[in-house]
Amino acid sequence: MIRVGVVGTGMIGQDHIHRITNVLKGAQVTAVNDVDEQRARQACAKEHLDAEVYESGIDLIQAPDVDAVIVTSWGPTHEEFVLAAIEADKPVFCEKPLAVTAEGCKRIVEAELQKEKQYVQVGYMRRYDKGYKALKKLVDEGQVGEPLVVHCAHRAPSAPNFSEDMPLTDSFPHEIDTLRWLLDDEFVSAQVVLPRKTSHSSIQDPHIILLETEKGTRIDAEIFVNCQYGYDIHCEIIGEQGIANLPEPASVLMRKQAKRTNEILVDWKERFLEAYDKEIQEWIDSVQAGKVTGPSAWDGYKVALTVEACVEAKSSREIIAVHKQEIPSLYAASDKLLKE
Ligand code: NAP
Repeated sequence: MIRVGVVGTGMIGQDHIHRITNVLKGAQVTAVNDVDEQRARQACAKEHLDAEVYESGIDLIQAPDVDAVIVTSWGPTHEEFVLAAIEADKPVFCEKPLAVTAEGCKRIVEAELQKEKQYVQVGYMRRYDKGYKALKKLVDEGQVGEPLVVHCAHRAPSAPNFSEDMPLTDSFPHEIDTLRWLLDDEFVSAQVVLPRKTSHSSIQDPHIILLETEKGTRIDAEIFVNCQYGYDIHCEIIGEQGIANLPEPASVLMRKQAKRTNEILVDWKERFLEAYDKEIQEWIDSVQAGKVTGPSAWDGYKVALTVEACVEAKSSREIIAVHKQEIPSLYAASDKLLKE
């Protein structure tokens, strides 16, 4: 049984504690920490957990009876905790972002390179979604031929706490990671087009992001975080031989009063519930097997580089190059394994 310590017992931290305790196999949460100690205690009480509550995240990470760490604290704290886990030789699952700057992600990559070992999995759960996996299988098998164009949309009903660039820095990273993985390709440039603003928010919303990949595929992504009507994710791949769409979540088609209707989900947690379970179960299994798989620190770094290019593209209104980086052999080997 893997003894897991959770740093940050807010919303997603509590969700992961719940799934490890009640849904998944092979691990138990034995230690928790939050800046708000009371919140950490309440998170344990909610699941009837007899976990030790640590005053500091670093003490939890260094505790000898913690085998592996989950970092679900506030984004700007991730780098410090992930680096501490690597230093302590412990596998670490870090919710996105890996770090809030590409420089910070690079420091984590360098820490792993120095140890010649991967410790980190980043919480990009869409790779574990049944629909995205089916889409990737079709692309990998060449069923649509070479992908030429991709149309994406990421819509959420409302985001009252978002500041100006958060649609790019907080929502869009999911698309960035998923597209790199789906297309097995890297981005070379980013452009951000700003349409008319919705009156439902004070920030710019929606954004249209145009990405170009090394192979020449063009992607347009609409990020609309105050769309009002639901949580709705689309991905359409236009290939040389055909077109493949991300499946819609199953919902009953109803005919009533001269209308055909389908329910649309509103809650992102519901949309990706199964994917979160799969993601954390596979992380537990990989910790047990002694080899962390899943989205790596390198993937987290590449996402951060792309996010920074998008933010610059938005403010400059120019097409911005995404810095090209050679993949270190440590990550190239595991990348290859994941594809086999
Ligand atoms: P949240 O509800 O605010 O929870 C974060 C918790 O961490 C809060 O209790 C916060 O306390 C605590 N915290 C802050 N600094 C800390 C520190 N130095 N040490 C220990 N605890 C600390 O946020 P959330 O929605 O759960 O999000 C947490 C992270 O997960 C974010 O990075 C977010 O982007 C990511 N996330 C990912 C997904 C996904 O789809 N993969 C979904 C949701 C969230 P205070 O509130 O008192 O600061």
